[in-house]
Amino acid sequence: MTPRVGPGQASLAERARGAVLGALAGDALGVPVEGMGRDEFPPVTAMRGGGSHGMPAGTFSDDGSMNLVTVESLVEKRGLDEEDLGDRLVRWLFNRHWAARRMSFGFGFTTREAIVKIHAGTPAAKAGLSEESDNGNGSLVRIFPVALLAHAREATPRETVDLAHRASAITHAHPRAKLCCGLACLLARGLLSGKSPRESVELMRSQAQDLYASDPWNSEYRHVQALMERNFQVVERHDVRSSGYCVETLEAAVWCLLREKPLEESVLEAVNLGEDADSVGAVVGALSGMIEGGAAIPEAWRKELARIDEVEALVARFSELLHGAG
Ligand SMILES: [Mg+2]
Repeated sequence: MTPRVGPGQASLAERARGAVLGALAGDALGVPVEGMGRDEFPPVTAMRGGGSHGMPAGTFSDDGSMNLVTVESLVEKRGLDEEDLGDRLVRWLFNRHWAARRMSFGFGFTTREAIVKIHAGTPAAKAGLSEESDNGNGSLVRIFPVALLAHAREATPRETVDLAHRASAITHAHPRAKLCCGLACLLARGLLSGKSPRESVELMRSQAQDLYASDPWNSEYRHVQALMERNFQVVERHDVRSSGYCVETLEAAVWCLLREKPLEESVLEAVNLGEDADSVGAVVGALSGMIEGGAAIPEAWRKELARIDEVEALVARFSELLHGAG
């Protein structure tokens, strides 16, 4: 099996659609097995209901909803506006705005606490938590729309990571969580410019060396050393962690990408790593969708996704924004 759309061929609109639908699909495929140990469940091969959350097939969780909320905010404000994004996250958590079904679910402690602070009046730009224990993947999973906007605007690497850090800090303000978002956006920029996963990882590493040479980033380096140096192409599956820790989620995603499989296989491989299956699936889905474009999302997945018609309409508005953004 070869990718249906090779690197460098998909339009930005198609890549944006791929990133959003890919995140939703990876999330929804992983929801039934979220929290399950590796190889302790029948491998996921299709959208299915039940399991960890007892949801119908095609139900995306916090990861998918926060992507949609972010896209909507970027479209409405024609850029990143922390207060608007914070308000929409409040509406998601408390009023099910862009929730797949009748409830918002799947969010971690840090995400919830930050949004509760915003709800209580803390400015969104200052709401993020910043303890060592606040380095879950809750901001990483929703960062990819920001990378798309940065790409459309031809932002410099510095501007790209600054945007990523600001978007992260609404919920996750620790330097490590921000760093993971910055690295993810640099990686995404490489993929969006038509580079292969291997070339994009190399580009991310070389740019990061300049961008993160000073504190507070320097002192975080040892935590992301594998992301910066490890040859993931020779790492075995049993050596890959797929927890909800931002560093391990990004490592798992890089490992999946470097296997250079087509989107469908890559997303299933990510989900079947288990643990934080839905979030790893969402990250790999977003990045694979950027490579191959929305047409690579299997129709059997797409048609099962909750609220797909509304999602497609939002994605079309996002594409218009990106098209006019340069
Ligand atoms: Mg989730």
